[in-house]
Amino acid sequence: AYADSGGPTIFDKIISKEIPSTIIYEDEKVLAFRDINPQAPVHVLVIPKLRDGLTQLGKAEPRHEDILGHLFYAAKIVAEKEGILDGFRVVINNGPTACQSVYHLHLHVLGGRQLKWPPG
Ligand code: 5GP
Repeated sequence: AYADSGGPTIFDKIISKEIPSTIIYEDEKVLAFRDINPQAPVHVLVIPKLRDGLTQLGKAEPRHEDILGHLFYAAKIVAEKEGILDGFRVVINNGPTACQSVYHLHLHVLGGRQLKWPPG
């Protein structure tokens, strides 16, 4: 896990499409694309197109409330499109102790298999 430098991340190049990704859902505010190293048959990342200081959830401020709500609604749209609405998990890793590796807020949407709890 890396630290939060506040600098650019690989997701900037995914948003600009300089790095290709398999896009599942996109609108003016968010992008959802398949994780390159999937941990389940469905593993999609949902990110804000404008990071606006949201390197991690722990940096959230009142101005971020709208985008945070929109990200969660987009996670539901992804689950619906992927056919996993009856069972899926949304995860946010925050900081090195939680194994966050990319410092641009992202929701993991996981499903398509029996998920275990706790995840470890
Ligand atoms: P984190 O560990 O920060 O919660 O999650 C970062 C996720 O981004 C990881 O699951 C990792 O596989 C994914 N990832 C990193 N680089 C790329 C990339 O270039 N393309 C895609 N599609 N996913 C990536």
